[in-house]
Amino acid sequence: MNTLKQRYQKIKQEVQQLSEQFNHKQSALLLAVSKRHPTEKIRELFSYGQHCFGENYLQEALEKIEELSDLNIEWHFIGPIQSNKTKAIAENFNWVHSVDRTKIATRLNNHLEGTGKQLNICLQINLNKEPQKSGFLIEDILQQFPQLLKLNHLNIRGLMAIPEHTDDPIKQAENFRLLKQMLDKLNQQFDLNMDTLSMGMSGDMTAAIQEGSTIIRIGTAIFGAREH
Ligand SMILES: *Cc1c(COP(=O)(O)O)cnc(C)c1O
Repeated sequence: MNTLKQRYQKIKQEVQQLSEQFNHKQSALLLAVSKRHPTEKIRELFSYGQHCFGENYLQEALEKIEELSDLNIEWHFIGPIQSNKTKAIAENFNWVHSVDRTKIATRLNNHLEGTGKQLNICLQINLNKEPQKSGFLIEDILQQFPQLLKLNHLNIRGLMAIPEHTDDPIKQAENFRLLKQMLDKLNQQFDLNMDTLSMGMSGDMTAAIQEGSTIIRIGTAIFGAREH
């Protein structure tokens, strides 16, 4: 039998073991990606101790946030962001991993003016310059960064990437290493302590943790196949 509880406990244990194996001071955070899965499953997972959930589609997410408002869930937005959706995202989420351009960051920031809320964000990097993927290009981020740092209501926690798909763990690790190097470079150049690398999904978790991931985003390996 392979229940939600068993799959969850297995992944949680794997994340912990890999974090220890690669000598991380802290275990990577497991973000349960619940897009296209019903609220009953989120509720069930919450009862096993999972409190951070990631969603990709705003409308779907808002309905779930409302339905689950009795639970103390930390909501992470990880999907593509249209600029007319920034207000609802800024207001309803604790984290946004998919900030892919300065315009979006500026809009998120401006919606928070006067609310007292700080939003945790990651800058999404298009590591392999894939035309269908969004994100800052590595060569642009250094130049854009000073402007991003002026956005007072955003807590820039680090970087996120969805590297090109490959089953080769060596290639996977190379991509993740590139993201880690970028974070180190930004921290050094701007004298910061950004602490987050949001990298690794069901298919490349081991390489991601090996290279220093601090947030692993797992959907399928916990919930099973998505509904459409
Ligand atoms: C869907 C999604 C995930 C989870 O993917 P799985 O392969 O189901 O684990 C992680 N990150 C992002 C950005 C996603 O869109």
